[in-house]
Amino acid sequence: MPEMPERQVGEAGSPKHYRSRTDDLPDQVGNVGRRTMDEIAEDIVASQGKSMISLGPLEKVYVFWLAGMSCDGCTVAVTGATEPSVEDLITGSIPGLPLVILHHYVLQLEAGDHYIRTLELAEQGKLDGPYVIVYEGSIADETLTAGCDPFAAEGALPLWAPSEQRRRIATAEWVQRLAPGAAAMIAIGTCATWGGIPAAYGNVTGAMSVMDFLGKEYRSALGLPVVNIPGCSPVGDNFTDAVQSILLFLQGLGPLPEFDELGRPAWQFSDTVHRHCVRAGYYEEGTFAKEYGDKECLVEVGCWGPVVNCNITEKGAISHMGGCMNAGGPCIGCTMPGFPDKFAPFYQSPPGSLISSNASRLMGSIIRPLRRISQRERNREIRWHNIIPSGWAAERGKETLTHRIVELFYNKMQFGGGNRPGRRLPEDEFSSGYRPLPEEAYGENYQVLPEERIKRRVKRE
Ligand code: SF4
Ligand code: SF4
Repeated sequence: MPEMPERQVGEAGSPKHYRSRTDDLPDQVGNVGRRTMDEIAEDIVASQGKSMISLGPLEKVYVFWLAGMSCDGCTVAVTGATEPSVEDLITGSIPGLPLVILHHYVLQLEAGDHYIRTLELAEQGKLDGPYVIVYEGSIADETLTAGCDPFAAEGALPLWAPSEQRRRIATAEWVQRLAPGAAAMIAIGTCATWGGIPAAYGNVTGAMSVMDFLGKEYRSALGLPVVNIPGCSPVGDNFTDAVQSILLFLQGLGPLPEFDELGRPAWQFSDTVHRHCVRAGYYEEGTFAKEYGDKECLVEVGCWGPVVNCNITEKGAISHMGGCMNAGGPCIGCTMPGFPDKFAPFYQSPPGSLISSNASRLMGSIIRPLRRISQRERNREIRWHNIIPSGWAAERGKETLTHRIVELFYNKMQFGGGNRPGRRLPEDEFSSGYRPLPEEAYGENYQVLPEERIKRRVKRE
């Protein structure tokens, strides 16, 4: 059997042997890749023929994704992001951005102690780049476990020690150890930002948000407060977009991202759901869904959209598609502090909507019929009123008085009583002697304009 060549990667002509720093560490079941995430990321960049020349002070950034009391929904949402995608970030595909070395318990190559080792190196300040912490899920009060195993844990310390010397490390402890040196601390999802479902009424774990755990005054090594990207689950693009904006700023290539008083990216969370909702026109005209599946505004079947800060109506759930109201669901306030308790019981008309929806209903009862009349009038081409052989001219004589008044109204208001621009009226064609087609070409629907109308027009000119 021929000998297999040694695996090589790198730019043509400058091959680089696979040698991982894990080679120096004790072997361990599970670490089948025998590569670290940063080595793989650099290999990917090199295999694309790119060099690691950075446009700013940062060449690479480590991102440690820790999970507390979570359902993994945030992970699912972020792996579906497209603008930019996680793949764009971890392959160095975005010009100007440093390479993102993602350490995520689902996507990680290393396992066991090899996985935890990079966290330890980060705490000791031995990494060759800054690191960012991303926290998914709420943080349990681990003092309640009274020396037993933690509610939520990641790895054990000391590394490679005999099992009797090792203890599992709560993710809360990792936050405590890594937060002071982190370039940024990002809480993703409503559990991490405000406490969410694990912190709801009846919670026995003392679950809380990252901001509550670290304190309102916490600032990262670069002076940033906890960056909060709420949602249950969040819009994945909100996370990757925020990471991209922060990294561009750190590279000196973008403006300082603006955050609101709760640490939310202001450009994502300053508007309400309602302002960009696909059903907002129904609300404004005062028509409301009576049951699920109806196409109208959902406020009377439990939508909190008018007071909820969320941009899913702009961004969609994934790739500008889907999202609550597009899919027929009312907003239950999942991005908001106090969710779920403050928005329960779900699917009942919010108390505040009593005044506003009834005001819309009253106003809509006047506006709607007027708009329908205008809409019908706008759905007629000017030329159809005269000689175009489409057959619509025959309707001219059947118009109601209301429609004639509306037409007059628009002519007076819109064109100041003058002539409408943009179309040649048949009178123009006759008076100038211009005929686009021979008479026979119009077929049996051809209508001759009354003589006196042509004369009137010519006289006016
Ligand atoms: S469905 Fe909700 S967000 Fe949409 S228009 Fe109605 S109240 Fe506003
Ligand atoms: S629209 Fe409401 S329920 Fe839907 S994601 Fe936004 S906050 Fe959550």
